[in-house]
Amino acid sequence: MRRWIVGAVAAALLLTGCGAPKSAAVLAEESASVSEPAEVSTVEETSMVTFSDEQIHKGNLILVNSEYAYDFDANGDADLVRIVDAQKYPYKVSKEEFRLCSEIMPALDNMIRDCDEAMGTQYTSVSSAWRSKEYQENVWDEYAELYGESYSQKYVAVPGHSEHHTGLAADLGIIYGDGSEGTFSESENAKWMAANSYRYGFVRRYAEDKIDITGISNEAWHFRYVGQPHAAYMHEHNLCLEEYLEMLKADTSPSNPLRVEYGGKEYSVYYTADKEIPEPSGDYTVSGDNMGGYIITEG
Ligand SMILES: [Zn+2]
Repeated sequence: MRRWIVGAVAAALLLTGCGAPKSAAVLAEESASVSEPAEVSTVEETSMVTFSDEQIHKGNLILVNSEYAYDFDANGDADLVRIVDAQKYPYKVSKEEFRLCSEIMPALDNMIRDCDEAMGTQYTSVSSAWRSKEYQENVWDEYAELYGESYSQKYVAVPGHSEHHTGLAADLGIIYGDGSEGTFSESENAKWMAANSYRYGFVRRYAEDKIDITGISNEAWHFRYVGQPHAAYMHEHNLCLEEYLEMLKADTSPSNPLRVEYGGKEYSVYYTADKEIPEPSGDYTVSGDNMGGYIITEG
């Protein structure tokens, strides 16, 4: 059915030329007047874009949780940089070797700078970032030994299942004006971040009211980059990543996208499990969901 629709639209475009875009209603009307649509080859006339199996496991929207492990092989070329080498704003980073995906560094810099400027003398720091599988194994072993496995599972992800493997997540800390370190979750910075991180493409990933879904306890310090317009939509509708991806899968398709307006731009977001779809006409990005599908963001 979908192929026929694509063919019909291609036929309409062929007959009317490729000038100004026409509305769906006009296209439908014109395609209805095509007398011999069978002569138009769907594949030949419509420019298609294909996705690889690996792409399912890559991108800003991949879900990594207790059920879905991070795919280290697919992400072998993840573009990690040391935060201290890339940061444009001098917030404290607990360890020099901490790394994140280079793509998210400008957003992190701006978010921390704006928060600190709003707070005055309470400075945000980065207390954890990308973690290798080996690092997570050490964290896990330490916690499990100290607190037992069942308690640890609430706070520490099993190796392979930590969002920190993605390089898209950072834990934040707090340093007060006198140089003393505090508990981030009790700081004003935490409130500011919870309310404003979406403006920078980050979401507060593990909230109290989503514990049943995420399986992780309330973590005021853990922020995950998902980019726009996803962060804005998730914030406005109070959706955690699991819920957002489930909604996209259930309710959207290339012909029925989610329309999101943010920052004066209009986006179309949709899910597909197809490895080949008609190429979007404008700018677009593709992210896997790490579960079996792709999220396409046009705009
Ligand atoms: Zn974390």
